[in-house]
Amino acid sequence: MKRSYSARRRVLVTGGAGFLGSHLIGKLLERGDEVLCVDNLFTGTRDNLIDYRDHPHFEFMRHDITWPLYVEVDQIYNLACPASPIHYQHDPVQTTKTSVLGAINMLGLAKRCGARIFQASTSEVYGDPHVHPQPEGYWGNVNPIGPRSCYDEGKRCAETLFFDYHRQHGMEIKVVRIFNTYGPRMHPADGRVVSNFIMQALRNEPITIYGDGSQTRSFCYVDDLIAGFIKLMDSPPEVTGPVNIGNPSEFTMLQLAEMAIRQTGSTSEIVRLPLPADDPKQRQPDISVAREKLGWEPTIPLEQGLARTIDYFRRFV
Ligand code: NAD
Ligand code: UDP
Ligand code: UDP
Repeated sequence: MKRSYSARRRVLVTGGAGFLGSHLIGKLLERGDEVLCVDNLFTGTRDNLIDYRDHPHFEFMRHDITWPLYVEVDQIYNLACPASPIHYQHDPVQTTKTSVLGAINMLGLAKRCGARIFQASTSEVYGDPHVHPQPEGYWGNVNPIGPRSCYDEGKRCAETLFFDYHRQHGMEIKVVRIFNTYGPRMHPADGRVVSNFIMQALRNEPITIYGDGSQTRSFCYVDDLIAGFIKLMDSPPEVTGPVNIGNPSEFTMLQLAEMAIRQTGSTSEIVRLPLPADDPKQRQPDISVAREKLGWEPTIPLEQGLARTIDYFRRFV
């Protein structure tokens, strides 16, 4: 049963003031949903929501999801969690609490409301993978006690909770494993590789490659990712996931640095810094499940997405 007399679907987006959440909110409003954004503004900003602030179907609530939340909603997208290593390692205990207590609270809320609930999980559940590319059936290679563990293990436990609520209470769940995503509204100082390289290139400062630059990542443009989120949320109840969403085109960090220099016309040089602990050597999604169950695949190549992202970052130089 719907939770309000309004004809519109009422959708809760946790972490909606962040990079991905703000893009998702734009798409949901565009299609006529009513959106409640819940965010504690730890890494997110009101600036990301500026386009929606005065929208009649948009509401913002400052709240930390490690605490219970009593609202009436039809669907929940649970995105709240810092995503960049420097942010999630700033207060690692809070990071685990956000993933675990946050999931419990949002699942409790979904259970009471009879709402369908979506979890933003991550390719980090595969850790430093021994299987390449990574299919959803791979259980991963994760260090439980390292500096990345608060994020990786927190997200793994959240997945466990989602599947136990599904089995135990018959709830409708949707779990997506997101691979590295980039685009406008990424935080320019969040330390992730795409924002670092673009900002360094635009400022003609040295481009910092960690290690020898041969490690790989597969980068998905934000619009492609959000289209995948909505397809998964709208899929039949038996499609629970986990589903990998990402762009399988794989690049070394050296290739990415060269592309950033070329596209910005920068005079930056490349410098090498030590590789952080537990840094995965390679990462590429196997997206057969997304293709088959959701009819989804990415459409925006890195060259093109990078150009749009560079345009956005120019305002911070
Ligand atoms: P982000 O840091 O821009 O956004 C996260 C948002 O969550 C921020 O607005 C932050 O203020 C909010 N938040 C953090 N802790 C909270 C709490 N306890 N209560 C309420 N709000 C809280 O990051 P993002 O890139 O937009 O990532 C969104 C989600 O997607 C995260 O769950 C992240 O783990 C996942 N993800 C992102 C990527 C990526 O490449 N961007 C990859 C894998 C997974
Ligand atoms: N919860 C919430 N909002 C709700 C319902 C529940 O935040 O509308 C939280 C509450 O903190 C609860 C948790 O979700 O402890 C898990 O709920 P559940 O019903 O699974 O278990 P409970 O702890 O209530 O037995
Ligand atoms: N990286 C880099 N220079 C930077 C920032 C990151 O070479 O200035 C590397 C990092 O060591 C990793 C890759 O780029 O191998 C992706 O890092 P990011 O933090 O963006 O994402 P994640 O490691 O979580 O995939």
